[in-house]
Amino acid sequence: MTMTTISKDALCGVALDAAARGWHVFPLRHNDKRPAFPDHSADRCTGTDYRCRAAGAHVGWEPRATTDPDRIRRAWRSYSYNIGIACGPSGLVVIDPDKPKPGEDTRPEAWRIEGVNDGVDVLCLLAEQAGASVEWDTYTVTSGRGGTHLYYQHPTGEPLLRNTAGQLGWLVDTRAHGGYVVAGGSVAHGRPYSVARDTDVAPLSGWLAEMLRPAPLPVQAPVLVSLPTGVSAYVRAAVARECASITGAASHHNDALYLASVALGQLVAGGSLESGEATRALEHAGISVGLKLHAVRATIASGFRAGGRRPRTVAA
Ligand SMILES: [Zn+2]
Repeated sequence: MTMTTISKDALCGVALDAAARGWHVFPLRHNDKRPAFPDHSADRCTGTDYRCRAAGAHVGWEPRATTDPDRIRRAWRSYSYNIGIACGPSGLVVIDPDKPKPGEDTRPEAWRIEGVNDGVDVLCLLAEQAGASVEWDTYTVTSGRGGTHLYYQHPTGEPLLRNTAGQLGWLVDTRAHGGYVVAGGSVAHGRPYSVARDTDVAPLSGWLAEMLRPAPLPVQAPVLVSLPTGVSAYVRAAVARECASITGAASHHNDALYLASVALGQLVAGGSLESGEATRALEHAGISVGLKLHAVRATIASGFRAGGRRPRTVAA
């Protein structure tokens, strides 16, 4: 196999082109798919990273992602980073039908169907079952090992779509809020990510948006939230829902806490919710799933900062 290499100027160009489309980019490690910064998770934050130190709390890759050409040029001037695109702030939902790994049979019983052999087949069958079709005419990237990344516009309004793994079907993952994709033009493990279709991003089809709605939340481990009587029913429900998304997450509780903090931080910034009330509810939920208090506080502060940039107001 030939190893592909690429200059840092070319990678900088890829990052600038993505930002020009309104996509929020951040550096990934050279020849790799993992974020270059931060180099530590929220629960390992020592506050020595300069962004975390300046903010007084952990800052993850999502709030670091930017469309600012000057910041991008500065970052890529020094090193040949790969390019990550943060889907949430970029307003993207990326559908990722994959190929099965050679020699590995991970196919669930329900997907032992004649003619269905990879993620693209699964996606086509799902479309057919929905009486619809797959929108192929959209910006598309092929990954190093033959996967396909179909970029779509996140539907406007609620609910926010998050990452899914296997929710649509066998070998079909999706990336949205809380997720990122490796930009076309990057090279990971010597294999290029290529732009297979360079066109506008199509709207996410209604049938896919419907299937990607967040799953009903599990009922176990409810968090009782007592809020003052002045808080609207909508805001109460939002607080309860966000706390349940933390306690109901099977893993990655800190990521769930961050996303919930962004959502409630938007309401705080919009004046619909007291910062103290939101903090208490989120701390309670974070602690109840075993996170350490100092890490919980750092994550909430980081989420509030991100949410504060997009205030939401709820009519009383
Ligand atoms: Zn940190």
